[in-house]
Amino acid sequence: MKAHHDCIVIGGGLVGAAIAYGLQRGGLATLLLDEGDIAYRASRGNFGLVWVQSKGLGAPHYQRWTRGSAEEWPRLAEELRSATGIGTGLHQPGGVHICLGEEEFEKRGEYMARLQREAGNLALEYRMIRGAEARDMLPGLGPDVAGVSWTPYDGHASPLYLLRALHAGFTGAGGAYLPNAGVTEAQAAPNDFRVEAAGQSFRSPKIVLAAGLGNAALAPLFGLDAPVRPQRGQILVTERAQQVLPMPTTTVRQTEEGSLMLGDSKEEVGFNLGQTPDAMKTIANRAVRSFPWIADLNIVRAWSALRVMAPDGLPIYDQSARFPGAFTANCHSGVTLAGTHANRLAPMIAAGELEPDMAPFSARRFDVRTAA
Ligand SMILES: Cc1cc2nc3c(=O)[nH]c(=O)nc-3n(C[C@H](O)[C@H](O)[C@H](O)COP(=O)(O)OP(=O)(O)OC[C@H]3O[C@@H](n4cnc5c(N)ncnc54)[C@H](O)[C@@H]3O)c2cc1C
Repeated sequence: MKAHHDCIVIGGGLVGAAIAYGLQRGGLATLLLDEGDIAYRASRGNFGLVWVQSKGLGAPHYQRWTRGSAEEWPRLAEELRSATGIGTGLHQPGGVHICLGEEEFEKRGEYMARLQREAGNLALEYRMIRGAEARDMLPGLGPDVAGVSWTPYDGHASPLYLLRALHAGFTGAGGAYLPNAGVTEAQAAPNDFRVEAAGQSFRSPKIVLAAGLGNAALAPLFGLDAPVRPQRGQILVTERAQQVLPMPTTTVRQTEEGSLMLGDSKEEVGFNLGQTPDAMKTIANRAVRSFPWIADLNIVRAWSALRVMAPDGLPIYDQSARFPGAFTANCHSGVTLAGTHANRLAPMIAAGELEPDMAPFSARRFDVRTAA
């Protein structure tokens, strides 16, 4: 493996792979270093939504970034398919959030109205839909469903095919990928970085920290902060069923192969990757109240994975003031944001600077001491 590269990306999950793909496609000879199976890997355990309608309350910049990503997704999916032959299973037919009972429906209506107000010029289109109309949209909705919120922007994809396509697209464009290569040591100087991984030394004028939960430890080495914590989510998967759901919902989606994915929990349990009957029961119960026919399907798989969560739940994108050329990217929506990571963030990194409207995503918002 060559020692010198234009850019090194640390972390080969969805975030690192999307950025590395965008950098390599843009002409930067890029090295992607990935720790391997011992690491926590949200990218291999997520729900697969390309989701807009629950993102960015109180943070219009995040709403814009998410919408932008949903818009970039078709181009990215098509490009990956033609470059690698791998389909990402992208469908963006719109999506709904199901409300069980009147109270949930009312609260959701207030939430969506506020999101729309905050969207300003972005003009968020949504509808709160009740009764027969909701039942026409989604066959088999149960009697406990008071209604749904709908937007035209939402969709879903196969996160595993996406990851595979990004890796194949990256290496196919000439990118260098080194697995089982956890970065253990690093030296930073402005536009000059050296890292040790898999017993080798690598050097580059640019570096991107995209190591998921590993970023918390790596960031200070490069004059950055990435105060991310794990948040556990559990997911259940049913046997394959006849294709019935025309669009995804926040808690139930049907994959291209026909399985129903039921999700997911939000648990503050540190790095515990266990599964619990209580969380599984809650997930299954909500799914069956939403669609009673799901009760007839067998659960064939279940797992848990850890989200990469910032203190306020928003992404962190940052550049080091002390060591120009060092960047970090952290988020809990790496499927949704693959479009902007590959098509908007990577070009900014290639140009050597995040654009000014990315400033609200800086870790400086937490008032932690960034090494400046
Ligand atoms: C239950 C659940 C449901 C989710 N549902 C959705 C969803 O529906 N839609 C959506 O958009 N997002 C969803 N997400 C979030 C999404 O999975 C994550 O945002 C995304 O996977 C984060 O990707 P990442 O590359 O930052 O992290 P990871 O996938 O954790 O990858 C980090 C990589 O960095 C490597 N690494 C770590 N330390 C080092 C080191 N020192 N040196 C080298 N490599 C290192 C690891 O090996 C790993 O491969 C969900 C997450 C969970 C847990």
